[in-house]
Amino acid sequence: HYKKKWAATTPRISSIRLALQIFDMNYGAQFGSLWPSIRISLLSEQKYGALVNNFSDVLQITQQLEDLNATDFIWESKTVVQEPDSIAQLGASELSSASETQTELSLQQEQPVPSLSPNIKCYTFPKGDISIFHPAKPDVIGILGYYLLDAASILPVLALNIQPDDLVLDLCAAPGGKTLALLQTGCCRGLAANDLSTSRTRRLNDILHRYLPQELQKVVRVTSWDGRKWGELETSTFDRVLVDVPCTNDRHSLREEDNNIFMRMRKGERQNLPRLQLELLVAGILAAKPGGEVVYSTCSLSQLQNEYVIERAVELMAIQYQIEVQVEDLSYFRKLFQSTFSFYPDCRLGELILPHLTANFGPMYFCKLRRMS
Ligand code: SAM
Repeated sequence: HYKKKWAATTPRISSIRLALQIFDMNYGAQFGSLWPSIRISLLSEQKYGALVNNFSDVLQITQQLEDLNATDFIWESKTVVQEPDSIAQLGASELSSASETQTELSLQQEQPVPSLSPNIKCYTFPKGDISIFHPAKPDVIGILGYYLLDAASILPVLALNIQPDDLVLDLCAAPGGKTLALLQTGCCRGLAANDLSTSRTRRLNDILHRYLPQELQKVVRVTSWDGRKWGELETSTFDRVLVDVPCTNDRHSLREEDNNIFMRMRKGERQNLPRLQLELLVAGILAAKPGGEVVYSTCSLSQLQNEYVIERAVELMAIQYQIEVQVEDLSYFRKLFQSTFSFYPDCRLGELILPHLTANFGPMYFCKLRRMS
């Protein structure tokens, strides 16, 4: 007898291939002619930034990084001036010529821009330079001089505009790159760093231990709660809230088969992401004081996980809680950081960093909200 065994013998498509197929379908439609360039960049080596640890020997570390020909992109942005809007509208391919125009314009008088979280230093290699940083070595007292991360993940922290004496909540904090950046401001009166995963909070604790002096570690309270409950636990409490949600982690999903979110058995979890993201954002807004600022971020290109979550959250806060929430303009980020990152020019709410072969950071979506009442 011949028995068809096709179900058992059909080769299973790998999670990485499935991720690429789904991205081709969704992002091909979403980004049109920009998608092939984003796609090849996502599949190529990513670039890192070195977040300087202000609690180490900063002079020595910055000298070391400068000797490698890296520069602090945040410091560099301070020389950028207000430019005609047409420059901020340019697409990725036009960015290099735009930066020439920018140099000319920096000769004009500087104009004030809305403030960013202070004291953060992050070194990157120039556009087109694919050199790599080596991991930091401990100094004489065992503190590490810099932390390597996707430089685009500093942007949500800068957007949070931390001010002296702020009480800050980092709702999904592990493994802790952004927590570390928040602490570099030296402004947090207290920082609640939370992550549902206990194994990941162990990594977070380990990072805090390796980078911070003991007195600063006392400023941080690390917890492993479900962030969705935070709105009920500590409502109207924080000056600033960072909601850096779990997402499809697009770059990682095209690299790592292990525990990939596109695995068949994680399909339900993946499809439920926008709901989880919405619930986390709503909890973050409820945890903010009236007048407080909230930044939502993902490392995905998906509109469903980005702008749609923002729209739904603003709606839900009004209908269910009678709380007005305003989306704040972040378009000045494009002007400030266009010589380091490739920005998507067509975001309606928030900003999106696109991976680009000459500036292979991101994807990183970030949007700032203010709780009005
Ligand atoms: N902010 C981190 C950083 O910069 O290193 C990265 C955070 S990662 C994008 C998202 C995190 O959300 C994961 O560490 C995951 O464990 C956590 N998470 C998932 N569900 C959560 C929940 N319900 N409450 C709190 N954290 C959650």
